[in-house]
Amino acid sequence: MSYRHEHFYIGGTWVRPSTERLITPINPSTEEPLVSVPEAVEEDVDAAVRAARAAFDAPGGWATWEPGRRAEVVERFAAELDARAEAIATAVSSQNGMPIAVARQLEVGYPSSVLRYYADLARTTEFTKTRAGLLGGSVEVRNVPVGVVGAIVPWNYPQALSVFKIAPAMATGCTVVLKPSPEAVLDSFVMAEAAEAAGVPAGVLNIVPGGRDAGAHLVSHPGVDKVAFTGSTPAGRAIAEVCGRLLRPVTLELGGKSAGIVLDDAVLEPAVIGEDLVRATFTNNGQTCFLSTRILAPRSRYTEVVDLVTELARSLPVGDALDERTLVGPLVTAQQRERVAGYIAKGRAEGARVTTGGGRPVGLERGWFMEPTVFADVDNRSVLAQEEIFGPVLCVLPYNDVDDAVSMANDSDFGLGGTVWTADPERGAAVARRVRTGTIGVNRYLPDPVAPFGGVKASGLGRELGPEGMQAYLQPQSLYR
Ligand code: NAD
Repeated sequence: MSYRHEHFYIGGTWVRPSTERLITPINPSTEEPLVSVPEAVEEDVDAAVRAARAAFDAPGGWATWEPGRRAEVVERFAAELDARAEAIATAVSSQNGMPIAVARQLEVGYPSSVLRYYADLARTTEFTKTRAGLLGGSVEVRNVPVGVVGAIVPWNYPQALSVFKIAPAMATGCTVVLKPSPEAVLDSFVMAEAAEAAGVPAGVLNIVPGGRDAGAHLVSHPGVDKVAFTGSTPAGRAIAEVCGRLLRPVTLELGGKSAGIVLDDAVLEPAVIGEDLVRATFTNNGQTCFLSTRILAPRSRYTEVVDLVTELARSLPVGDALDERTLVGPLVTAQQRERVAGYIAKGRAEGARVTTGGGRPVGLERGWFMEPTVFADVDNRSVLAQEEIFGPVLCVLPYNDVDDAVSMANDSDFGLGGTVWTADPERGAAVARRVRTGTIGVNRYLPDPVAPFGGVKASGLGRELGPEGMQAYLQPQSLYR
């Protein structure tokens, strides 16, 4: 355990925790404990908010800097994260089971590109605009930073989802208290080291790993001006209720159960759509909010689609997350594995047919592994098709015509992502536009930093990424003159 692993990064320095409580993440591939780190309690969250408040309120401080000057800090932060790429990827994979090859793409590289995107946006955005007044004189409309941001993230993409919040916050002049999830904390220490090395001014970014109580304390803290949350729909609802009472702005990125609509002209060959289809349905062992886990297939080609998806699922190498060849690693915790196994049992009980998987992979006796699993003959109103499983489990459902496919896609409490698979991208886009979700892809799916990402219905409120995502960290002030 290093000196840093015994402290919290608060106010630009390493601060002793207020209790001796520890978090010990477990490697889900081996079930071995990893390094222990302190667990933040209310007093630690208070100290972090005080530091963020002081940095935000300081006359002539961060919030008042020229955007270009802040952008330079954000870019240095991106460079310091890149310099620690391997340490971050290894920390993430050994905590949450993300295959290392995936972590190298989505947990390093991608987050720094988001930081650089917001640095550019800070330089090019006109934060103040003057309009001629209708009543004489003029009005200056200033977009000012909202203040201290309480950012709460889950374990599945700890770096990317933190940066989705930190990047627009820093670009606009906000300060941040980040609370990582207890299952994935070690990479947050590397992030803190990167911030320190980049010369991020004291108090602009503060990191307090802790559990639900620390998160709840942060959400309702009187020193916090805005909450940015990614996590489950039940936790999002609880947080929204508190923010509603406090009239505190909140962004919520929650769960999903997205549809992948296969049109009747799709080329159903692994060499043609296999890689993109696997990425859109199984990334990070199914522990990704936007995956198209409900595959809708035309009745005329239903058997072909079931066979293709089954073949793809069977072909995925399952193994230790740190093995370069692994494409499906373990689930994050024993509890998560049990939950996924419970859904598979429910699916069987509801009469759905398992075409592949459904149990522990052969030869992987230790670790929280689950075989990539495909269900056919699934009813769209069943638990299997309606609830977020958050594991490598897909269901394939038949539809009659495109109208039927669209109405099945929309028949969900969620509305986060989705995909359409077709040989005719224009036809695919026309179908995609009819699906009620915050995002959707044609023949591929990956949240691009330039575009707003988020959901409708039980998938959340507000958007991250893109210029729209930056707006959530700003509020207008009109100055009549
Ligand atoms: P979770 O909701 O249990 O926890 C997420 C984070 O919130 C953790 O840091 C946790 O400590 C904290 N937390 C929990 N309850 C809280 C409360 N009442 N007040 C304050 N903080 C609280 O979710 P999880 O199991 O860690 O993550 C999986 C979920 O996240 C899935 O439902 C998934 O779909 C969702 N997710 C959504 C997106 C998205 O962008 N829409 C992205 C990734 C994950």
